[in-house]
Amino acid sequence: MSSSVALRLPSIDGLLRHPACAPLAERYGRDSLLTGLRQLLDELRPGVLSGQLAAVEIGPEVLAGRVGERLAQQQRSQVRRVFNLTGTVLHTNLGRALLPEEAIEAVQMAARYPLNLEFDLASGKRGDRDDLIEGLIRELTGAEAVTVVNNNAAAVLLTLNSLGARKEGIISRGELIEIGGAFRIPDIMARAGVRLHEVGTTNRTHARDYQAAIGPRSGLIMRVHASNYSIEGFTARVPTAELAELAHAHGLPLLEDLGSGSLLDLTRWGLPAEPTVRQALLDGADIVTFSGDKLLGGPQAGLIVGRKELIAKIKKNPLKRALRVDKLTLAALEAVLGLYRDPDRLAERLPSLRLLTRPQAEIHAQALRLQPLLADVLGEIWQVSAIEALGMIGSGSQPVARLPSAALCCRPQVSKRWRGRYLLNLEAALRGLPIPVLGRIGDDALWLDLRQLDDEPGWLAQLPQLQVDR
Ligand SMILES: *Cc1c(COP(=O)(O)O)cnc(C)c1O
Repeated sequence: MSSSVALRLPSIDGLLRHPACAPLAERYGRDSLLTGLRQLLDELRPGVLSGQLAAVEIGPEVLAGRVGERLAQQQRSQVRRVFNLTGTVLHTNLGRALLPEEAIEAVQMAARYPLNLEFDLASGKRGDRDDLIEGLIRELTGAEAVTVVNNNAAAVLLTLNSLGARKEGIISRGELIEIGGAFRIPDIMARAGVRLHEVGTTNRTHARDYQAAIGPRSGLIMRVHASNYSIEGFTARVPTAELAELAHAHGLPLLEDLGSGSLLDLTRWGLPAEPTVRQALLDGADIVTFSGDKLLGGPQAGLIVGRKELIAKIKKNPLKRALRVDKLTLAALEAVLGLYRDPDRLAERLPSLRLLTRPQAEIHAQALRLQPLLADVLGEIWQVSAIEALGMIGSGSQPVARLPSAALCCRPQVSKRWRGRYLLNLEAALRGLPIPVLGRIGDDALWLDLRQLDDEPGWLAQLPQLQVDR
């Protein structure tokens, strides 16, 4: 006859008093520790009752250790810094533009102290938060007025609803684009209460197409900068100036959604040409909308700029209240716009522009420097080479343009049938580092594009922890 003694879980009270748990209570608080212990004991109970667990697995030290791991895990922030080595600079999934120091300081100030968000210090009366950046926007774009919302999608929605609800919005078929996710121009128009009146064809739209569409129900003409795709070959589009003339002859406003929209001509830094906000306004667009965190290099925001009376109408829309930006965004935006007053130093001071314009030779030299170190960590199964690569701007800007860059290209030296698995394992191992490293898989290799590797010491410091499953 067996005489085994039934195993018993330690009591909660006993555990709480145990020296192994004391530091945990100190570190995470008694309530969190209690919850953690209860959960763990509940999970272990069936195993104890069925006799599947051994005594050593439920000793107080072991239990304290397990709860400690869980509490540490829970305390770790879900918002994590990563290394973006994907080759896409303004990566929407990785937070787009990085803010300059000036903006970071402004955000800290705005977070820490009360501020004149809607308070006019000169008169002592209530102010308007848009006024905080209106002077800068006027100077930098030539616009009469501005209003800022949460992102450019909100800017488009608010503008359409304010100026075209229950009327028709005339737009070229070639501009009925999907930006990504659930943002499609026809859908946003419908939600804004604007009836879509599409004109022309996908590749060619003429002034006479717009002309024929104008009637008593027309409310506005819209133009969307097809930022994330390109149509080449037999195409025709009406220049903004001509379209503006047509719209104004019929008393209609012309809206232009520039998407990325740049404040300066980027070709001066060797980047592909993007339409500038100033030029769109000069050409006669009445309202121009663009993002704060794409090529502008600032915080997430949607800027609506243009004619004063139209902006006033947009600001009166109750939706504006629902879409407005917070103080942190405005503080960052003002600081970023301020840097644009000195274009000569912009590429040094604005991180997105600095990264976009980093010379290929410099990136390649970095790749050559890091290649032996990564090769050493990965071992001989991996062939690591420092080679030229092509990145992109991202966020739908200039989808066809490529940024000449350099990358560490990692190829597993195994037969073709195993390569996919090796690549996924390496990708997962890089993601598992304390500061996850994100690259991209393509052409049977894993590519780490170094254009955005600013913090080389930080990247190197964690390299010894890389453990790739075979
Ligand atoms: C990116 C983009 C948008 C959406 O801007 P968000 O700031 O991401 O909301 C709208 N229109 C165009 C043409 C775009 O390129």
